Amino acid sequence: MQFQWYPGHMTKAKRQMQEDIKLIDLIIELVDARIPFSSRNPDIDELGKNKARLILMNKADLADAKKTEIWSEYFQSKGYFVVCIDARSKNGMKAIQNTIMEACKEKIERDRRRGIKNRPVRAMVVGIPNVGKSTFINTFAGKACTKTGNKPGVTKGKQWIRLNKNVELLDTPGILWPKFEDQMVGLRLALIGSIKDEILNTDELALELLKILLSEYAGVLKNRYDVEETDDAVKMLELIADKRNCRSKGNELDYSKAAALVIDEFRSGKTGRFTIEMPSEGQGV
Ligand code: GDP
Repeated sequence: MQFQWYPGHMTKAKRQMQEDIKLIDLIIELVDARIPFSSRNPDIDELGKNKARLILMNKADLADAKKTEIWSEYFQSKGYFVVCIDARSKNGMKAIQNTIMEACKEKIERDRRRGIKNRPVRAMVVGIPNVGKSTFINTFAGKACTKTGNKPGVTKGKQWIRLNKNVELLDTPGILWPKFEDQMVGLRLALIGSIKDEILNTDELALELLKILLSEYAGVLKNRYDVEETDDAVKMLELIADKRNCRSKGNELDYSKAAALVIDEFRSGKTGRFTIEMPSEGQGV
């Protein structure tokens, strides 16, 4: 899904989220494991204060496993519970169930002290567009789950998905707006295909990508495209265009075709698994 945000959208999304958050115990926040910083909006920390917090590092199948581990430790050190997943796969869903109970331990114990037994934990999924919220809800809830009807105190139309006797999930995810006013964030979101490519044109985007791969993942372009690596991103694009026979009608090298190819193969994971930002860059969350 590609999207465009306007201030009106953000105000509405924020207001909706404030209402929904009142109904829940736990926020399940999805981030993209390739860009855990740029794919989150820290406003959720203010909106969700006093709530239990679980971060799902999604699309971990496309991310650099070692760096995912570093990010995971980083988020845990900030007090979040963390699970790394591929939302399209059932693997990891059991771990999430267990982590939800762990994250909500205090609430469960408080209930028990008050004589309330078996009140399910209520959770909602949040994240920026395209991060995998719907995919996750589908996989996590599966077919076996029953949707419960409207409940007292719940906005009309809101539905809860009963996952098991312990957990209920709000069926509509909360949409967070990305912080794309920050150029670096915009670039990274564009690289993973989360915002319209028009922030930068495809040629520029590909050159930025090549620069990142050359400096952070030496050898990867050589492996993928069978080209010698140089520090010059334009030269790299030229070599790739040649190798992959990206040519215009007049048989000239077509840089734009090569740029589209490089971006496409990066996004789909064909080039490899990459994480293009680290907590040590000082991007506090
Ligand atoms: P939403 O806008 O947050 O609800 O995102 P979607 O659930 O629609 O997912 C956006 C795209 O990402 C879809 O094409 C999904 O198939 C894909 N996707 C979601 N989760 C994963 C994942 O863990 N790994 C990979 N490779 N793709 C995923």
